[in-house]
Amino acid sequence: MAHEGHNALHDLLTVRGVTRRDFLKYCGSIAAALGMSETMAPQIAAALEGAPKLMPTLWLNGGSCTGCTESIAQVDSPDVATIVLDYLSTNYFETIMAAAGEQAEKQIEETIAEGGYIVIYEGSVMTGQDGNTLLVAGKKGTEILSEAARGAAAVIAVGSCAVDGGWVYGYPNPAEATGVQAWLNHEGITTPVVNLPTCPVNPEWIVAMVVQLLLVADRDVAAFVEKTEWVTRSYTDRKYGAVDLLMPKGIFGQSIHDNCPRRGHFENGEFVTEFGSKEEAMGYCLYKVGCKGPQTFTNCPVVRWNRRTSWCVEAGSPCIGCGGLNWVDNNSPFFHRLADMQMGDALGNVQPGSVGAVVGGVAAAALVAHGLGMKAAGRVGDGPPMEEMKKYDRKRLAKKGGDK
Ligand code: SF4
Ligand code: SF4
Repeated sequence: MAHEGHNALHDLLTVRGVTRRDFLKYCGSIAAALGMSETMAPQIAAALEGAPKLMPTLWLNGGSCTGCTESIAQVDSPDVATIVLDYLSTNYFETIMAAAGEQAEKQIEETIAEGGYIVIYEGSVMTGQDGNTLLVAGKKGTEILSEAARGAAAVIAVGSCAVDGGWVYGYPNPAEATGVQAWLNHEGITTPVVNLPTCPVNPEWIVAMVVQLLLVADRDVAAFVEKTEWVTRSYTDRKYGAVDLLMPKGIFGQSIHDNCPRRGHFENGEFVTEFGSKEEAMGYCLYKVGCKGPQTFTNCPVVRWNRRTSWCVEAGSPCIGCGGLNWVDNNSPFFHRLADMQMGDALGNVQPGSVGAVVGGVAAAALVAHGLGMKAAGRVGDGPPMEEMKKYDRKRLAKKGGDK
């Protein structure tokens, strides 16, 4: 999949029918995802087009449903994200590469021998039964990861399974699944790991990291780590103990709640308490039916999913917090409000108590205080035009023959 030559990406875009305008628009949204100004779009485009060849990449799979691969590959027509990822010099991609058998496995050895590559790791690291819970071509998955990561310039852990074990880590975790960073700590491997949780990963975040590596750091991983703004999230793995995870701040530095279009309803105390209710039809806040947006830190509402078509809350589902850590155990049952929730680094854990029809209860009050604080700090504006929204809601409902 390697593409040589100065204008390889440009040629690829032309062949696939992607206009320059679409490409620049896309680069603008990558800038936004990275927390840069959209005026950086031409520079991002130039960085991508000017790269004679991106870094060689090994895409390895651990214990996974391959949902992250699906998230990238399953588009109805090639969009810019898939083209940019196609442009990566991907030497090994277990799920979708044409090569098989010994020939395929040789690609890993050759890439490691050449050096200067990155590893993208999807799925959890299966450590159970001395690593025998996952064998690829007769080799333990744990060994494949260690060998590849030891010589890599960087590892990108994509999806929550790679970040902290994800679904597979859910109690009782008989396969003793864990995340990439926890495993590399255990092995004493110090290669930098970029963590991109959620289930599955948003492909645009991978593209954003590749752009960051090219644009900001000119392919120098040490500069990439130094110049990128990071947040550190910590958790305790049941088998390997305390783990610190590096995540790009532009993507994981703000809560879903802060950017949610239903936030105005939250602050007005307008909640959905039952699916199928008129409140649900009116697009009210989903907090009381289990939304984990307040304690989940990703930019899902900004970047959105499926070629920016929509995202969970916009599609009517509470955020189940798949961008959090140990999210399966912590957040289930998914459609129930939690008894104890994390309110971000500054506020720590709070007990929600009961949230009434109007905003009441400790958590809701704390959330509102958090909102007011953000407003005072100039981080949020006046919020959505509530009266207009309500009028629109009533009209829409009346049209459908529902309650007014
Ligand atoms: S609780 Fe959920 S639905 Fe409600 S405003 Fe926050 S993120 Fe949006
Ligand atoms: S909105 Fe929540 S549940 Fe949906 S992908 Fe983002 S973090 Fe996961």
